[in-house]
Amino acid sequence: MNGEGPATRSHALLEISDLAVAYGGHTVIDGLSWQVGGSGSLVTAVLGPSGCGKSTLLRAVAGLEQPTRGVVRFDGQDLAGVEVHRRDFGVVFQDGQLFGGRSVASNIGYGLRMRRWSRRRIADRVTELLDVVGLPGFEKRSVDTLSGGQAQRVALARALAPHPRLLLLDEPLAALDRRLRDELAVEISEVVRAAGVPTVVVTHDHAEAATMADEIAVMRDGAMVQVATPSQLWRRPLDEWTAQFLGVTTVVDAQVRAGIADTVLGEIALDLPDGSRRLGLRPESVEVVGPAGTDDPGGSLATVVLVAELPAGPRVRIETAVGEIDAVADESVAIGDRVRIRLVPERVAVIG
Ligand code: ADP
Repeated sequence: MNGEGPATRSHALLEISDLAVAYGGHTVIDGLSWQVGGSGSLVTAVLGPSGCGKSTLLRAVAGLEQPTRGVVRFDGQDLAGVEVHRRDFGVVFQDGQLFGGRSVASNIGYGLRMRRWSRRRIADRVTELLDVVGLPGFEKRSVDTLSGGQAQRVALARALAPHPRLLLLDEPLAALDRRLRDELAVEISEVVRAAGVPTVVVTHDHAEAATMADEIAVMRDGAMVQVATPSQLWRRPLDEWTAQFLGVTTVVDAQVRAGIADTVLGEIALDLPDGSRRLGLRPESVEVVGPAGTDDPGGSLATVVLVAELPAGPRVRIETAVGEIDAVADESVAIGDRVRIRLVPERVAVIG
């Protein structure tokens, strides 16, 4: 580290220009350019569907894949020819890749022994990291006896142990069940922020990306589509593909005039210039306000075709002017009810 915080750095920490990576003759990444950490973000997520090349990108940054073209710079230094272990990057993979048959301490201390730290210093660092990842006293445990979540915590501790300049996490939660994923996503984010280590995390799960990252880079077919903060991304996805990948289920046309967007589902106030727009709706973007007789001049009418009582409240499927869509309801509604709906301006995505 050069002592400069991410907020004061004048250039991006990681700069990738025109990167291409191929397996055999098959090009997976072609002309990818991307800058990480220039806007003061510490944790950046690479979010994209399975097979789009996220892992390949991360491996190329780590030095585990050789690019066929392009430049990867870290802190201004071209990494071409810099060996994996000389990059000082920590890497955590989906399955942790711990050294089986060995103790937790031996795994966490691995990179420190390579760097010829003294035994005493290694032992202190291992203990410190086990506290950080919530596994105090686990030094002597064999890694073969750990649960999936514990193993990933140990893998994180091992990656952080030598004070890496950059942490690369490749789907670190993918092998865990839902509840544990949510819990660990928060924990990992807290741990890397406390350690102050710039982190790139690869995931195909947008909730996980939003939980962990300040900035999200959406990747598709080996290229970056859009880089934005989570809230910018939900509100202003670049195109319809991105909107749908991020959970938009219905796209409606809107005509904006004087700050009011007019759609077949009703009107909403949107602070946009006059003209035609496409709006992306998620279930939370459409709300049942009451029975059809309810007064709401901006709304429209729909018929309930399905009701699911979810923990957060009723989720309904309704027949509308644009076909069946999902919506949320405050109070109980029943199948067959004729209801009034409204669009929720802050939960509608403006596409493009
Ligand atoms: P993601 O992480 O987004 O799921 P990957 O980077 O793992 O995507 O893979 C991108 C593409 O490259 C996929 O089509 C995958 O099958 C292919 N691929 C990945 N690793 C290899 C490899 N070692 N050899 C050949 N093809 C690979």
